[in-house]
Amino acid sequence: MPRFRFRFLRRPAATLLLLALTASPVAAESPSSPVLEVVATTSMVADAVRKVGGERVAVQGLMGPGVDPHLYRQTRSDVMAMSRADAVFWNGLNLEVQLTELLARLEARRPVIAVGEAVPVEARLADEEYPDQPDPHVWMDPGRWRHAVIAVRDALIELDPEGADAYEASAQAYLEELEALDAYAREALASIPEQTRVLVTAHDAFGYFGEAYDIEVLGIQGFSTESEAGLARIESLVDLLVEREIGALFVETSVSDRNVRALIEGAAAVGHEVRIGGELYSDAMGPEGSYEGTWLGMLDHNVTVIARALGGEAPEAGRLGRLEDAGNEEP
Ligand SMILES: [Zn+2]
Repeated sequence: MPRFRFRFLRRPAATLLLLALTASPVAAESPSSPVLEVVATTSMVADAVRKVGGERVAVQGLMGPGVDPHLYRQTRSDVMAMSRADAVFWNGLNLEVQLTELLARLEARRPVIAVGEAVPVEARLADEEYPDQPDPHVWMDPGRWRHAVIAVRDALIELDPEGADAYEASAQAYLEELEALDAYAREALASIPEQTRVLVTAHDAFGYFGEAYDIEVLGIQGFSTESEAGLARIESLVDLLVEREIGALFVETSVSDRNVRALIEGAAAVGHEVRIGGELYSDAMGPEGSYEGTWLGMLDHNVTVIARALGGEAPEAGRLGRLEDAGNEEP
């Protein structure tokens, strides 16, 4: 559990006025303006806080669609927003490496909550070469991400106890959606034939996803996009594509497709044809305001695209019939 320090917690003056004017419990249930103003780093974390926080919480997300959190550096306006916020939510687990120092300093003055670190230590995966480096991509598995949602709920209740009932209710409803998505993913991905249950992506963002749904995962780059994919890595992956007769690779919206293209060319050079199976949302969500721009939509998209590209069965428009573009490129 994260620890919070409230000593220096300041609410905006307007909020204090609002609280002074609205003493009745009914007013506390549905405030006319947000009670908390918070900042969230990645779009996945911002989405969880918005879903649980509802109208009581104004969330400013720092990273938009297509932004790579491994490489993201704060802007001057980010720093201003974070130092004024009632709390800052981030993933942690070494994901937002460039923000680590700043957030460590901010923690002395503001509650800073690493929601990814709510995933129990025994449920975390580690880098084979660097066992002390956790895999930060916990949002890829609903079973693990639920810990983050619960951490958001508990933090909001601690920050704004009057909203406890509202946060409990919205978190409960959201966790039910999360379970329905997990059930859909389980069924869709189980339909992929044994031979093709291999997911090759630009970087190692799908380890938890693969473990949850029994799919072998190979990233061309490691856990972080900061690492370089060497020629030797490309060559050994080409051998594997040929040997396993893998016909589809995946690109990611927040990572350059350079290495994936190199792999396709390498396979073509030895006479093995591989196609792009689709574009996946790994470390950032889809366009703001779209279904894919929510965590539920992002995972629905990934599950549906992967199942269909690897020979499994899933409806083209996904779990709820809301996906815009999960159709796969023809071979
Ligand atoms: Zn990543």
